[in-house]
Amino acid sequence: MKRRICVAIIVSVFLLGMTVYFVVSNKSVTTFYDKENSKEIIWNGSRDEKLVALTFDDGPHPRFTPKILDVLKEYDAKATFFMLGKHVKLYPKVVKRVAKEGHEIGNHTYTHIDVKANSSQKIQDEFKKTQEIVYEVTGKKPTLFRPPYGFYNSIVKNITSKEGCRIVLWSTHQDSKDWSCPGVNKIVNTVVKKTKNGDIVILHDYVVGESDTIEALKTILPELKKKGFKFVTVSELLEISFEVDK
Ligand SMILES: [Zn+2]
Repeated sequence: MKRRICVAIIVSVFLLGMTVYFVVSNKSVTTFYDKENSKEIIWNGSRDEKLVALTFDDGPHPRFTPKILDVLKEYDAKATFFMLGKHVKLYPKVVKRVAKEGHEIGNHTYTHIDVKANSSQKIQDEFKKTQEIVYEVTGKKPTLFRPPYGFYNSIVKNITSKEGCRIVLWSTHQDSKDWSCPGVNKIVNTVVKKTKNGDIVILHDYVVGESDTIEALKTILPELKKKGFKFVTVSELLEISFEVDK
């Protein structure tokens, strides 16, 4: 009888242990690899941490980017700038300031090409030229690539992974289309109301005409900070996410 109880206890402990193991390991996988996320294509970071990665595309812009940097500094926020190579060449001083203030610089092609409508050679040239110009100006090659319009295919995956770059998209519920200047309130409402742990927020520091993004940031940053969010670069977000994933 005693032996039977003993066996029952051992089996129960074993089953309990297995359950805990599966719950814990399953949780860490789903938190990072949320639905669409994969090792190659990043849409968001860990849902376990109160972190947000703000990203700014198409710059640098000689007037708007410095203003965005001022607001980020005021709130001790770090961000990621997906730059066009041609703008890096035109405005190297702004690029240097972005790097010096601890923000990350990602590759967004040289002239904002649609990768689906271009040859493999053209994509490779645009990607490499941008890697090189960023390196020339900052001494560091980007490790993140954001394809214009969020388009990608196996050619893009091959080119970027060979260079040790990851493809970074964005949290789709976060797209305020700020490039179309939809008004400060629209941008603020989209970002502040919808932000979830680990989100990658897409914004633009280069827009045609006047930018609503700078004014919107002056509300977005304090509001999200009040909610307890910390603003990190995409690489920092991924580093933390992978720690969670281990
Ligand atoms: Zn773009």
